[in-house]
Order: sequence, then structure tokens, then C-alpha cells
Amino acid sequence: MADFDLAIIGGGINGTGIARDAAGRGLRVVLVEQNDLASGTSSASSKLIHGGLRYLEQREFRLVQAALREREVLLRSAPHLIRPLRFVLPINQARRSAMLLRLGLLLYDWIGWRKILPGTREIDLVTDEAGLPLKPRFHHAFEYSDCFADDARLVVLNAVDAAERGAAIRTRTRCVRAERTDVWRLVLNARGRREVVTARVLVNAAGAWIESFAELVLRQPPRHRLRLDKGSHILVRRLFEHDRAYILQTADRRVVFAIPFERDFTLIGTTDRAFTGDPSNVLPAGEEIEYLCGVASEYFRVPVGSADVVWAFAGVRSLYDDGARKPQDIGRDYALILDERFGEAPILTVYGGKITTYRSLAEDVLDRLSHFYPRSRPWTASSRLPGGDFPYDGLDALIEQSQTRWPFLSANFARRLVRAYGARVDRVLGNATARADLGIDFGADLTAAEVRYLMTEEWAQTTDDVLWRRSKLGLRLSADETAALDRFMTQANGATA
Ligand SMILES: Cc1cc2nc3c(=O)[nH]c(=O)nc-3n(C[C@H](O)[C@H](O)[C@H](O)COP(=O)(O)OP(=O)(O)OC[C@H]3O[C@@H](n4cnc5c(N)ncnc54)[C@H](O)[C@@H]3O)c2cc1C
Repeated sequence: MADFDLAIIGGGINGTGIARDAAGRGLRVVLVEQNDLASGTSSASSKLIHGGLRYLEQREFRLVQAALREREVLLRSAPHLIRPLRFVLPINQARRSAMLLRLGLLLYDWIGWRKILPGTREIDLVTDEAGLPLKPRFHHAFEYSDCFADDARLVVLNAVDAAERGAAIRTRTRCVRAERTDVWRLVLNARGRREVVTARVLVNAAGAWIESFAELVLRQPPRHRLRLDKGSHILVRRLFEHDRAYILQTADRRVVFAIPFERDFTLIGTTDRAFTGDPSNVLPAGEEIEYLCGVASEYFRVPVGSADVVWAFAGVRSLYDDGARKPQDIGRDYALILDERFGEAPILTVYGGKITTYRSLAEDVLDRLSHFYPRSRPWTASSRLPGGDFPYDGLDALIEQSQTRWPFLSANFARRLVRAYGARVDRVLGNATARADLGIDFGADLTAAEVRYLMTEEWAQTTDDVLWRRSKLGLRLSADETAALDRFMTQANGATA
């Protein structure tokens, strides 16, 4: 008998989502991630849980509708990580007519299956505060709803839930060889330690690496169905005071978002360029930064230049190539390719997908594999992710309760912790009665208690895991503070090795 019913390659949003769904159905699951969870594309997205207004123009109605439906499902399942966000779309007649935008948004609202999110309205930028940071030539705008998420933490919490339902989550473990007989025999390399596991079914959810994994590890002939497309974001000091985002129409018929981020910043993105090369090594190019600054400067009164950029990051979309020519015209929908042969263990490859659709994608994967397993029912649509068991509009109440229980928490500290851990904040703070009970303060309210929690419960091993994926405190810690955190984590890793 195989060790596992299902082995999954890739600890991004798709791999962890599939692991969670499968483990919840009682399957024996192992997930293998070569680096940290969400170290690939899943921490480099625009972090929107959205239908994708722009995809309506490309007539991707099925994708848009499926994605729009997921917004409120995900919002209810993780109200700490996901929040509703209003988008201001300034009318720019040179780009698209007001009539076209109105029709698009009407359709977006109509197919959007909204119970929580408010619908579209028109706003006067002369009187509404959303007009203040914009150049005076923009008089009117539409305002509509989507959601914003902490993409990397969404991945981690799917992994936490999968593990609590019995899945084995192996981070910093690379699958280097796979032999296919009536079961899969996988050779794993965990930082030099070799291990072999067997599984009845294999899922290749390696994102931008799916084809290199197929060629180098599975030793399959090249398929060339994968199109890689790079997207970059920049972060600047906050450009406006309110909590809405902007969607800016560009001269090349794209859109760029400007989103309030981590209280003090504005996130601006994204670009869209064909990519070749190693997906582990993807960085924003100077010209992409210039492009994003240019778009922002066209709309905002205060010009944005590359010297204003405090952080930039890039990721690679993996798209299923359906033959379209321009990167922006290739479908954003996902494709699941099942390869089953008589007498040989099956493999399913996941092409594409979005953060927004990961839950329904996982459901589709389990549906495609259903004939290999005992009958089971979809269950994730009405479930909560760890810490998400409170009402979708109950975040402020939870923050207040936390400050009552731990009076030493400042408003910002409480908000950050509740946003990250939701109703599980007690697992981080425990019975602390004073700030000093949380141990060393590394800076920006990051304490030893929280770091220990991240290391024992969320697979954090390095400062990058803590500062850029489990949180975004990398924006606030100095080099000396990061070095102190590094020493602490190295010592803690040594103690558990
Ligand atoms: C710029 C940009 C903006 C985006 N914005 C949005 C958005 O706003 N909303 C939205 O819904 N979607 C968005 N997306 C899409 C979304 O981010 C991706 O579809 C999603 O993150 C893909 O997840 P994944 O799990 O397939 O891949 P990944 O997150 O890349 O995970 C694959 C994992 O496989 C691992 N791996 C590879 N080979 C091996 C091996 N041999 N052994 C073990 N592990 C291996 C990698 O290390 C990696 O962590 C955006 C994408 C980009 C690039």
C-alpha cells in the first residue's frame, strides 16, 4: 500500500488549497514545497479577490463570474485576511467612454452574486475626498466593490488547516525524482536529507515550474503549453488618506491599481511582460518601475518617481497557452490536465489559476480525481480557515475584545495581530499580562512570542519567512533589528534540530 493517497508538488495557493480540501475529505495527503510556503507567485500577486473587470473586455465571462462568486465565500471563510475594498475608477474619456465603463460595471454587479458587497455608484470627484489626490482634470468616477487579501498568509493558513486535518506539510523539501509504476515513488531532498515516499496519485501544482518539473523530474517530453508572464509591483509612501483604492486606465489599454497597503503605503501594480528564464529569480526591471511611476503620475497630483519607491517585487503568472498572441490576451482561467494510463498511477497538472479561484479549483481537482477515492462531498465553501471563525464584519469587535483582554496592546499592535491571526490571537499572546511577558521586542511590535508561534505552528524558519510572508514587517525593521531576529531564529532552529 502507498504511504499517501495524494502527493502534491508545490506549496503555493493552489497546492495548499488542494491539500486542505483533500485532507478534509479524509485522504492521506503529503504536500512538498522546495522553499517556504508562498515563496513563489502566491506572495507576489496584486492581492485582489476579484472577478477582474478587465477580463470582461476579453470576454472571459465564465472566469469572471466564477471569480466574482468566490469573493464573498472567501470573505466569510477568512474575514481576518480578506476585507472588502472599494475601487475608484476615474473616467478618462481618452481611454474608455463612460458609457462602456458603466455597462461593464453593470454587468460586473449583475453577475457578481453579492450579498455583502455594495454595488457600483457614480461619484463626483470635485466633492468626494477621493478626488483630492487626483489631478483636477478628473471630474467623475465610478466606485465599485472587490476584496483585498493577504495572499501569503492565505497560503499558510490553508496549509495549517490541511495539517490539522492530517496532511503532512514538508517545506524546504524538493521533489527531485518521481518514478511511475502502479504508485508514484517520489524521491525528496530536504536540505540534503534524502527521503522516499509513495503515493497513489500525484498533483503537479508547481506553478511556474510545472513544465520544468515534468521534464526534469518526471522525465516527460516537453509540452510547451505553459506561458510565463511577469508582473511587478512598487510600494511608495501613502499617496492618499482614505481607505479606497484606485483603478487607473493606462495608455496601452491595461489597468493599474493603486491600493492602500499596510497603513502607511500605497501598492501600485502591475505590469504584464512575457517572461523566460528561472522563475526563482524574478525581479522588477527598471523600465517596469518607470512604467508604474508614469501611470501613477498621470493621475495623481503629486508625481511619483523611482526615488519614491520603498519596495518592489515581481512574480510570474503561469498561464495555459491557448494560442493567443499578446500576454494580456491569454486566458487567465485555469486548466486541469489529467494523465491516467492503464496500470500506472495518475498525475494531474494544474495550469494557471488565481488566488481568487483557488478554493473552487481545489474542489474541481478533487472532482476530477473522484473515481480514485471513496465518494466524498465538497465541504470548503461553508468552512472557516484557522482564526476565521468570527463574523465577516466583526474585525473591529475582535480588536476591541483583544485590547480588553490584553490591555497592554496598542491599537495598531492589536489590529495587526487580529488581522494576521483572527480568533487565534490568544495562541500568540497566551496568558501574557504585560508586554514584557512576550519576550524580546525585535522592533515594530514583533516579539519573541510571535516569532516562536510562527516557527512552531506556521513553518517559519528564516527572517524572510517572518518579515515578508507571515507578515510585512520587513517594511519596518532596520538592518540591525533584522540581524537580531536572525540570531534569535538561528538559535531556535538549532535548539529544535
Ligand atoms: C503580478 C501578478 C499579480 C497577480 N494578481 C492577482 C490578483 O490580484 N488576484 C488573483 O486572484 N490572482 C492574482 N495573480 C495570480 C496568482 O498570484 C497565481 O495564479 C497564484 O499565486 C498561482 O499559485 P500556484 O500555487 O499555482 O503557484 P506558486 O505560488 O508559484 O506555487 C508553486 C510552488 O511550487 C514550488 N515548487 C516548484 N518546483 C518544486 C519541486 N520540484 N519540489 C517542491 N516544490 C516545488 C515552488 O517553490 C512554488 O512555491 C497574480 C499573479 C501575478 C504574477
